[in-house]
Amino acid sequence: MTNRHFQKQLAERFGATVRCDEPMSRHTSLKVGGTADLYAIPKSLDELETLIGYCREHGIEYMIVGGGTNLLVKDSGIRGMIIVLTHCLNKIVQDQSRIRAMAGVKTAALCRFAIKNSLNGMNFALGIPGTVGGAICMNAGTASGAMGDRLESLTVLLSSGERQLLKRQDLDISYRKLSWQNKLFGKDVLILEGSFMLEPADAKMLEQQAHEILNRRHQSQPTRFPSAGCFFKNPDGASAGQLIDLAGFKGKCLGGAQVSEKHANFIINRGSACADDILALAKMIQEKVHNTFDILLEPEVKIVG
Ligand SMILES: Cc1cc2nc3c(=O)[nH]c(=O)nc-3n(C[C@H](O)[C@H](O)[C@H](O)COP(=O)(O)OP(=O)(O)OC[C@H]3O[C@@H](n4cnc5c(N)ncnc54)[C@H](O)[C@@H]3O)c2cc1C
Repeated sequence: MTNRHFQKQLAERFGATVRCDEPMSRHTSLKVGGTADLYAIPKSLDELETLIGYCREHGIEYMIVGGGTNLLVKDSGIRGMIIVLTHCLNKIVQDQSRIRAMAGVKTAALCRFAIKNSLNGMNFALGIPGTVGGAICMNAGTASGAMGDRLESLTVLLSSGERQLLKRQDLDISYRKLSWQNKLFGKDVLILEGSFMLEPADAKMLEQQAHEILNRRHQSQPTRFPSAGCFFKNPDGASAGQLIDLAGFKGKCLGGAQVSEKHANFIINRGSACADDILALAKMIQEKVHNTFDILLEPEVKIVG
């Protein structure tokens, strides 16, 4: 599928919607990674569905990217198509205490929308970058809540092209993970929209809380350098950051990658890192923590390519 002739044909059919050989370092918060063969930004739901149909017909593998804030793309890049939803799935609506947000809406915009409409329940997600689709997929959250807590239902697009409404009971929601009860769905389920059940509250109080949450984040996290947030999941009953710190890795550099001095579970790009630097540093951390504490840290960041 990767041959030039085919890429050209596809670009001719979809025009500026599809780019070839797009550097993923431009589209991920870590700012590393090789090129994607094809990079598509559909402008409408119709165009998105046509693209998915085209991929199915031609056996092209595709992957959805939201904000790219939880992704480490390898230096070898991505064979197949990256599909970005921010231009086609960006509506957000309120229905009493419920908010329906499409997958391409920024998570920050969902939090702000909830505050503006005096609805409580999304403040935990303030400061989490990326999109609603990515946040649902990752069950993103903090110590005070996660996306799955408020999720009432999801509308998804299956690789067959069929749309489905999934109720909460159709989902498996766990720590930084969301999957489907129906295992026949496979891996290519595209989240189109999430519906969140919130509760009425005083907007001023929510605004004050938001201010405190964002301040706390700013103090505890390295915001000056590119990263993908916490690199590893917290193991049961322990903090990955604390284990990495105790293993002596705070501030440790490898090539252009560094374990943040401010938060040991953040691997930052000092400016010149490649994906291999970050992967090699992550492997060193895993080995040392495993040898020292007999705990195997599992990446929270999705490593793709
Ligand atoms: C500075 C910083 C702070 C962070 N803090 C937190 C935090 O406090 N808590 C936390 O949980 N995370 C945190 N993260 C990680 C990240 O921001 C979250 O996981 C975020 O929700 C990912 O959203 P995204 O749109 O960027 O997803 P992406 O990184 O683009 O994608 C993540 C995964 O979701 C899939 N995906 C995305 N959209 C869809 C869709 N519509 N349908 C199907 N699959 C989809 C992708 O294929 C990929 O597998 C942080 C990251 C950074 C850089």
